[in-house]
Amino acid sequence: MELAIIAHDGKKAEMVNFLMQNFDKLKNNDVQIIATGTTGSFVEKTGLKVQKMLSGPHGGDAQIAARVAEGKTNMVFFFRDPLDRHPHEPDIAMLMRLCDVWNVPLATNPATASLLIDHLG
Ligand code: PGA
Repeated sequence: MELAIIAHDGKKAEMVNFLMQNFDKLKNNDVQIIATGTTGSFVEKTGLKVQKMLSGPHGGDAQIAARVAEGKTNMVFFFRDPLDRHPHEPDIAMLMRLCDVWNVPLATNPATASLLIDHLG
């Protein structure tokens, strides 16, 4: 099960908190984590293994979107900051669109991500 994690700057602390709270579930359910570059560095600090893509504004969201389209990524946690502007808005829209095209579960906040993780077992 490949899980992609992305957190905008204003949401990175929340994302780290979320991962610590769900550390055992992620570890025990054989989840392979991938992440955009900076988010990935934060994920590493929790002790979870992660494959880092490019930083989001440099194409990381687009790389993850491609993996969704290719059927490689099975779930996406995208902790968006709705109160900030993002230079890579087109890539963000593409990722969300492709999740819907390919019916890949997409959580855009920790509350929804918790529900998805609980479903893993
Ligand atoms: P980052 O990218 O993890 O490299 O900060 C996230 C994003 O803004 O899409």
